[in-house]
Amino acid sequence: METKFWDLKKDPHRAIEEAAALIRAGEVVAFPTETVYGLGADGLNGTAVAKVFAAKGRPADNPLILHVSAKEQIRNLTTGLSANAQALIDTFWPGPLTVVVPKAPCVPDETSAGLDTVAVRMPSHPVANAFIAACGCPVAAPSANISGKPSPTNAADVAEDMTGKIAGILDGGSCGIGVESTVVDTTSPVPTILRPGGITREMLESLLGAVEIDPALSGNPAVRPKAPGMKYRHYAPKAPLYIYEGPESAMRLVQAVERAARQGIRTGVLCDDRTEKELQALLGRTGCVAILSWGADKADLAETLYTQLRKFDRFSPSVILGMGVSETGLGLAVMNRMRKAAGFNILLARDGQVTIRSGSGFPDYMLG
Ligand code: AMP
Ligand code: MG
Repeated sequence: METKFWDLKKDPHRAIEEAAALIRAGEVVAFPTETVYGLGADGLNGTAVAKVFAAKGRPADNPLILHVSAKEQIRNLTTGLSANAQALIDTFWPGPLTVVVPKAPCVPDETSAGLDTVAVRMPSHPVANAFIAACGCPVAAPSANISGKPSPTNAADVAEDMTGKIAGILDGGSCGIGVESTVVDTTSPVPTILRPGGITREMLESLLGAVEIDPALSGNPAVRPKAPGMKYRHYAPKAPLYIYEGPESAMRLVQAVERAARQGIRTGVLCDDRTEKELQALLGRTGCVAILSWGADKADLAETLYTQLRKFDRFSPSVILGMGVSETGLGLAVMNRMRKAAGFNILLARDGQVTIRSGSGFPDYMLG
């Protein structure tokens, strides 16, 4: 299939009209949002939605989010909104917040993966908003990556995964937030975060009071996540990724990288700016092939995390060693993505010791 590519800097109005016409014809088009790029189809057309699953290689039991261009459009998609759902919509729409609500019969099983609830969001990105409005239907859209890979935050990353598989790509530049929307289940008595994202836990708590976090997000494989998508390894670079968490993570990471380098292992490193300075001396020496780092601001980290994870694939390290950040603010979403990318292979560095927090198969040089 030929994939049309529209540069929105040129003739945005025409590009959006052409792309919307393809959606109405039951085709799949990628478009920018404020979180990541989405892979859109008419969310009320089961055949069109099936094409999204095929293009991504997405498991059929993982439901899609319906994107709307005005708050009141959610009324047609649900049998009723709880007071919490209404408060969330009034406060955080348009924006990076998805609400899970009881599903109306017009939403096909392909979209909701057979669940009796549906996830809905109104993005704030002007292109997303204009595009959805032009489509004239709710647009079902997961992130525009091949399932399992990091989500795309620019059109080139979309093209890398989707060229030849979908009808078109709307290039609206880089996404500002860089991690996906927060998914909140509003059908339970206490609203529950099913996926942390652009709207932080603190923001939700200040509006609603108590908010729960789905216990499955801790990575315990015995607990089944309420958002089906959260059970898959995800956001993963090709090389295995291992993470140190805890107050001594930076020191332990540096030691492990030094040991790996001595053994001649091609190592990638994911760390903060301060740790990068310590490691600079190793870069270029046998073993250490790439150091991708972030500054003090977690908003920066969220914005660039997926680009960083994708970059590692270009250096083909045989292993990637990383360190965590604190889970306040956007840190909760960032750590959720990092732990998933690492397949929950996580070490805890504190009190002068390294212990296994979860996972297995750690290389010796990480544990020493
Ligand atoms: P993505 O489309 O890749 O941004 O992922 C959407 C996320 O929302 C996945 O983790 C889905 O499993 C989750 N999700 C979508 N619809 C529902 C629903 N009705 N109930 C619970 N989780 C949902
Ligand atoms: Mg996704």
